[in-house]
Amino acid sequence: MNDLPPSTGALLELRLESIQFLARDTLLYAFASPAGAALPPCEPGSHIGLHLPNGLVRQYSLLEGGREPRRYQVGVKRDPKSRGGSSFMHEQLRPGVVIQVEPPRNNFPLNEEAEHSVLVGGGIGITPILCMARRLKALGRSMTLVYSCRDRVDVAFLEELRSYENLHLHIDAEAGGVLDIAEVVKAQPANAHFYCCGPGPMLAAFEAATATCRRRRSTSSTSPRSRKPRWTAATRSN
Ligand SMILES: Cc1cc2nc3c(=O)[nH]c(=O)nc-3n(C[C@H](O)[C@H](O)[C@H](O)COP(=O)(O)OP(=O)(O)OC[C@H]3O[C@@H](n4cnc5c(N)ncnc54)[C@H](O)[C@@H]3O)c2cc1C
Repeated sequence: MNDLPPSTGALLELRLESIQFLARDTLLYAFASPAGAALPPCEPGSHIGLHLPNGLVRQYSLLEGGREPRRYQVGVKRDPKSRGGSSFMHEQLRPGVVIQVEPPRNNFPLNEEAEHSVLVGGGIGITPILCMARRLKALGRSMTLVYSCRDRVDVAFLEELRSYENLHLHIDAEAGGVLDIAEVVKAQPANAHFYCCGPGPMLAAFEAATATCRRRRSTSSTSPRSRKPRWTAATRSN
């Protein structure tokens, strides 16, 4: 799955097929070709760019990879300080509308050959992480899946996630504080590959905890205080 041809970049015209509730302030959107055609391929870690009817363009991580996908699914969390991306999607976008979509790009690739992968998702950051977990599970690879949310009402995909053997679900409100990422990292085997997607403060903790690891990719560009989701990957080399 890591050898897909590069995207041509031409915008796709896709119809919003359905909207489903996922968790508090979080909805699942499925887009498909109005003609029912297969869509350009995508991998775990890929995202698409939605050109919203209000003129804004926003990126969202795909929940499923595939060579000839029939739909693109994204989870969108409504940002309380939205300037019009997630709020427009939650309030205005309705099934049936056709919008332009930038084809998948992958800046967060998964190494499918790793002996053990550690996938850490915080809040809506679970979407690319779950996509990776689905792929590793299909391949029968060893993994630890860590999912952290502020409250139980923020947890998405719970039923599916329970089917993962090494799931560590952390709820801040029940644990009395945030996840200790340093402890998570310390507990993993040598040569583990780490991936994290979540809000700025979580990424900062992850980056500190994996500081001695070889960083494979990091495109964090917003302030560490920002709660916008960001992502990073690291490979332990010690
Ligand atoms: C590769 C990638 C994948 C992503 N995947 C997902 C995903 O799967 N699901 C998801 O929900 N989101 C995802 N995002 C985030 C998403 O693209 C949007 O940024 C998010 O929905 C918020 O958009 P918005 O227009 O509602 O909010 P925005 O208006 O962009 O505001 C978001 C935050 O920016 C701050 N802000 C607002 N105005 C300013 C300003 N002038 N200067 C500085 N800060 C400001 C606000 O305080 C707010 O906290 C992804 C982003 C990237 C880059």
